[in-house]
Amino acid sequence: MQFTRIPHPSPTPDADRIEAIKDPGFGTTFTDHMVTVEYDEGAPGSVAGGWHSPRIGPREPIALDPAASVLHYAQEIFEGMKAFPHKGGGLALFRPEANAGRFNASARRMAMPEIPEDLFLDAVRIAVETDAHWMPQIEGGSLYIRPFMFASEAFLGVRPAKQYKFIVILVSSGNYFKGGVNPVKIWVSQDYVRAAPGGTGAAKTGGNYAASLVPQAEAIAHGCDQVVFLDAIEHKWVEELGGMNLFFVRADGSVITPPLTGTILPGITRESLIALLREEGLDVREEPYSIDQWRAEAQSGELLETMACGTAAVVTPVGTVASPQGEFQIGAGGNGQLTSKLRTKLVDIQHGREPDRHGWVMRV
Ligand SMILES: *Cc1c(COP(=O)(O)O)cnc(C)c1O
Repeated sequence: MQFTRIPHPSPTPDADRIEAIKDPGFGTTFTDHMVTVEYDEGAPGSVAGGWHSPRIGPREPIALDPAASVLHYAQEIFEGMKAFPHKGGGLALFRPEANAGRFNASARRMAMPEIPEDLFLDAVRIAVETDAHWMPQIEGGSLYIRPFMFASEAFLGVRPAKQYKFIVILVSSGNYFKGGVNPVKIWVSQDYVRAAPGGTGAAKTGGNYAASLVPQAEAIAHGCDQVVFLDAIEHKWVEELGGMNLFFVRADGSVITPPLTGTILPGITRESLIALLREEGLDVREEPYSIDQWRAEAQSGELLETMACGTAAVVTPVGTVASPQGEFQIGAGGNGQLTSKLRTKLVDIQHGREPDRHGWVMRV
């Protein structure tokens, strides 16, 4: 599909942009443009059942009818990905096809239309090319890309909407690890679960995040950085953090990560780490790991490291785990060897400083 370019009437002046991206932090320094694609079921001349009017234009508020069904029944999905400066010049995306595929898996679960993968990728590429000058020129800087889709149809009956918007916005992002990588302290949620079998845990949908905010606040009230969720049935098996997957590194050379049974978000960082760990000759197993095993192996020294991973923070060490039963430390409570090594390796592949053996990097 051909994207229409709507000229920006007043792009951010260079001096203001340069100031804004000097130390952008995370999540607030938005770029000037956005991509929008509309979906109207069965619209004449549309593709894949209803997609039409792809365009890039000024980033601006969206007009919505107060009955827009996303505001009532929460048909909404999103992705989180990054563009990096590449050693060979220009910018690079990391496994964007995987994000496109997962986006459509989320769409299917939420009874939303799938978007053709090419259209998703074109939208991301056009957004990144147009606002490439918003890339922070600092170590660890990136453009964080947020593609999302929601139901915009004005209709209060309960059924899948027939009208949607797909939008891509970009955020200029600084180094998540300013002042070094800090091990996180994690709170084991007692009263809340993130996802149940048959629920929406494997979909990247806003409601999962809404449900995680109270337990996350509880974690902070207990002096922790993040919450870890256990399974909904036995309240025994470790699942994941609110937005990061987990790996347990053991002294016998095995690495365990919880299996994708439908309650865990299938992280692209998770999948990439599994491949890199196997290349290192480690025995990676996707199998259940219990909270009791976590505590016992941390205390006996059998467990060397616990890593949390996701696009935003890449690979982060878990230092301490806290619950009403008390706290336990992982290793020396610091930054483990394998955690550091893998983070460096992944970041170097993303920036073109390490060979891209898996075809993960897409130059733009
Ligand atoms: C996005 C997300 C992750 C990490 O996925 P990546 O593709 O590695 O960024 C993990 N858990 C949850 C709940 C998520 O929403």
